[in-house]
Amino acid sequence: MPHKKQDDIYREAYQRLCAYIETHQLRHTAERMTILSAVCTLQRFSVDDLRYALTGITISRATVYNTLSIMEEAGIVHRLEKDFGKRATQYEIVFLRHSSVKIICQKCGRISEVKDSTIQRMLDDKNFTNFVQDRYSLYIYGHCKVCRRKQITKIN
Ligand SMILES: [Zn+2]
Repeated sequence: MPHKKQDDIYREAYQRLCAYIETHQLRHTAERMTILSAVCTLQRFSVDDLRYALTGITISRATVYNTLSIMEEAGIVHRLEKDFGKRATQYEIVFLRHSSVKIICQKCGRISEVKDSTIQRMLDDKNFTNFVQDRYSLYIYGHCKVCRRKQITKIN
């Protein structure tokens, strides 16, 4: 699935933010629009990355957090599940998300992305009657190795 162009991302994000601001009767501030523009450039980032991108522009930390939460509610960005080893919470533009196959452990909640060309090709090539797919998210639920081992130990 090809990545969306920068302009398209900004246009879609801008429309969503404006719609949200209008519906919730918030103020259409220059700060929010500056943050939106930085978010669209970064696409996937931590709050520190975003603050770094805004270096030289006077925007308070509170405004950054506040705008991010507005963007989350407006369906522009979402917080990613904390990955092991990653120090800061990552945000990502929602509608940028590529098609993915993920496995989720029902016990510990760990999520891993699966790179399986057989499944991916099958879904990419799938034709539906009266429906054109843009992307997909497939979640496979089960139990990870660690949790399975714990369970077996408990039984014995
Ligand atoms: Zn587990």
